[in-house]
Amino acid sequence: MPRRAMRSRFRAVSLCSLLCACGLETAPEIELGGRCREADLEVQVEAGHPIPCQELLRLSANYRALFEERFGHQSLVGIPIRYRDRDFLDDAHHTGWRYADAIDLGRLNWAELPHELNHVRTGPGHQGWCVDFEPWSEEVLRVDERAYLGCR
Ligand SMILES: [Zn+2]
Repeated sequence: MPRRAMRSRFRAVSLCSLLCACGLETAPEIELGGRCREADLEVQVEAGHPIPCQELLRLSANYRALFEERFGHQSLVGIPIRYRDRDFLDDAHHTGWRYADAIDLGRLNWAELPHELNHVRTGPGHQGWCVDFEPWSEEVLRVDERAYLGCR
């Protein structure tokens, strides 16, 4: 890879540190401590996680409802929300990740769910998010993603 491309890639990784990314690879296997569901919203909880599944389901449903009010229903059939028993999903400090067959969130990162749902809606990448998703995220979620998304 050309040197210049490497550098910009590293920069992107450091901006990612508190937020998500969006690969479409298959999710790694994890040991589950519980699972619960409500319609097409299935929550899976990694073994050792301190919060009961039903509580995580309630929080997830609330954030999903906020997202749906603005961006519409996204089917989660075949895409369980997995709460990992760790703050960060990887060494790059991602707190959310959309896999082909799951959405992983860090231990207490339910507020990251709308970002991942927007990936379900729009696909990989963040093109156009500065126009609709980011202003909504700031106003409704109080989550400022301007720097991460590269918005002016
Ligand atoms: Zn993303």
